[in-house]
Amino acid sequence: MPSTPLHCPRCGTGAEDFSGCGACRAEGIGANPVPPLADLSGLSLRTYPGGPWGWPSTLPVTGPPVTLGEGGTPNVRVPLTEGADGDDGGDGELWVKYEGANPTGSHKDRAMSVGVAAAVAAGADTVAAASSGNAGAAAAAYAARAGLRCVVFTTDEVPEPLRAQIDALGAVRVVRKDSPTRNAAMREAVERFGWYPLTSFAAPSPGGNAYANEGYKSVAYEIARDFGDRVSAVVVPTSRADLLSGIERGFRELRTAGLLSRVPRLVAAEPDAAAPFTAALARSAPEEQERTSVPYRPSPAFSLGEERPTWQGLDALRRSDGSAVAVPTEVFMAEHRSSGARGLFLEPSSAVGVAVARRWVREHGGLVVAVGTATGLKATAGIRGMEPTTIPELSRLTP
Ligand SMILES: [Zn+2]
Repeated sequence: MPSTPLHCPRCGTGAEDFSGCGACRAEGIGANPVPPLADLSGLSLRTYPGGPWGWPSTLPVTGPPVTLGEGGTPNVRVPLTEGADGDDGGDGELWVKYEGANPTGSHKDRAMSVGVAAAVAAGADTVAAASSGNAGAAAAAYAARAGLRCVVFTTDEVPEPLRAQIDALGAVRVVRKDSPTRNAAMREAVERFGWYPLTSFAAPSPGGNAYANEGYKSVAYEIARDFGDRVSAVVVPTSRADLLSGIERGFRELRTAGLLSRVPRLVAAEPDAAAPFTAALARSAPEEQERTSVPYRPSPAFSLGEERPTWQGLDALRRSDGSAVAVPTEVFMAEHRSSGARGLFLEPSSAVGVAVARRWVREHGGLVVAVGTATGLKATAGIRGMEPTTIPELSRLTP
């Protein structure tokens, strides 16, 4: 099925499909085969227009782009202390790269834009995605754009706004009771009908479609274009680490081509309810790290939480001298509220990243970029539990 060959970055085995490396899976490890890194020599960050298609030669897809104008998202400075407006004179800087500004409101658009283009190039008529929400909405949008049928495998845990978004974009939803049965249904469809898989469906999860993930490299290109060598760390809300490992690959390409003098430290941000990367890095031996397993517990950060770390996520953290940090629900929900109070309405999962970045810049200083993965409109149920600020009578308003 793939046109550009994929190889497993852990064991070197070639791959025939998108179900992860079979040899590593036999060892109980989820590892995602990848295409070769792109050669960026001769390119200039100064003229990079942003987005995955800004530098189409960096993508493993031949054929026309499938695009809705994704990427080129804004950097929003966040004060380090309450009450400050921006430059609050500290030793560090905290920025949110706001991926909620993408067409379907999340970073997944960068991947699905490339993944659907790869599906078109492969001659597919139907794409399939197993998703807790954001990936399903992005898959639906880009499939609709390309004129392909899209089937999204979900559970009834999907937040109502995301369900509405997927339906409005014309995808068919197949609902199962939990993630394992959802993934089994997708696997059956991929194997029986030959549908093109845009997300992971194997266990342990190896990560999503390797071509689609190449779209995430553009996050690194944009950060490098906008901040150059000033960035000390990039904090990424992490579940299966598709975004994290894609960003690391982008930085590695830039570094290899001499467009960046160093790769920033990458930090995986996790809800402490289910934080496999934090648990893995607490162990010292690499073979123990990659076999780490934690119980899955849900949290308001519904896009995050896994049982096992993916191998390429651990690899990205090791290569960048990175780290993983878990934060409790009350900390990231407080960040969620304070971001909203400053005009940034983030998904709770994104607030996990901002909360970790805030802690990181306090402890290490430097310029830190947190990837704000999605808009708060994706999951509004938690908002109902917040104390609303309403004014019963106009006369109580102070002039
Ligand atoms: Zn392998």
